Amino acid sequence: MNGLKIKILEAIFEKYQQWIVNETFHCHRGCSLCCTQNVMVTAVEGQYIYDYIKQENKEAWFAEKLLRPRQAKSVKLTTNGFARICLGKKEDPLDEKPSQPTGICPFLEENCCTVYAARPFSCRGFASSRDCHDDGSALLSERLLAINTITMQLIEHLGQRENWGNMLDVLLALVTHPANKAVKKHINDDGIIKSAMANTSTAEPIPGFLWQPEEEHEAKNYLQTVLSAKIGEKTIEEIFNNK
Ligand code: SF4
Repeated sequence: MNGLKIKILEAIFEKYQQWIVNETFHCHRGCSLCCTQNVMVTAVEGQYIYDYIKQENKEAWFAEKLLRPRQAKSVKLTTNGFARICLGKKEDPLDEKPSQPTGICPFLEENCCTVYAARPFSCRGFASSRDCHDDGSALLSERLLAINTITMQLIEHLGQRENWGNMLDVLLALVTHPANKAVKKHINDDGIIKSAMANTSTAEPIPGFLWQPEEEHEAKNYLQTVLSAKIGEKTIEEIFNNK
């Protein structure tokens, strides 16, 4: 995983946070109803977590979390895969049922996220404008859903051709990367790694966007803001287009 991708990921996180700064959320520290095992990530986001773990010297702790019994199902259809199918109208993407929220995220301790600084976008973008305890579900505005979808598509584009899937599967798949050998030495079960790899899908490039006409103006402005962010001498758009 190259450092450039991590820098782009950080820039996307930053632009997203700036864009939604005026949204009002009910979320607060200690509320963890949405911290299930059904979190989908790209390999770039997975490596971002590994880099944080390395910095914190928590490799043994992290390995123990990865080896815990799992309850979550895997999702095979990526966000860009979903967009590709919708835009091509070749098949019904809803054939794949979304997985149910089962199992608590292993990184949740005392109702707080232990990898908060490095949490993936699914955790950053999943916020609610009402108390989820009312009926167990979050409420996201159409505006936020559109911005979140664009952000997920951009992050998947960044990680294209790499693993995409359930966070725990992607993290286990990444443990064989040389940069993560300090975690790998605590995981002797190669079977669990192979099975996690088999559960992942491959991240795809952006095939187009699915925003509604009424969302188009803001969506395009947001997209342009993210793509024009500079990483060194180049914008994200130039890097994506290999210019
Ligand atoms: S990574 Fe952190 S924020 Fe995301 S589900 Fe797990 S505990 Fe919650």
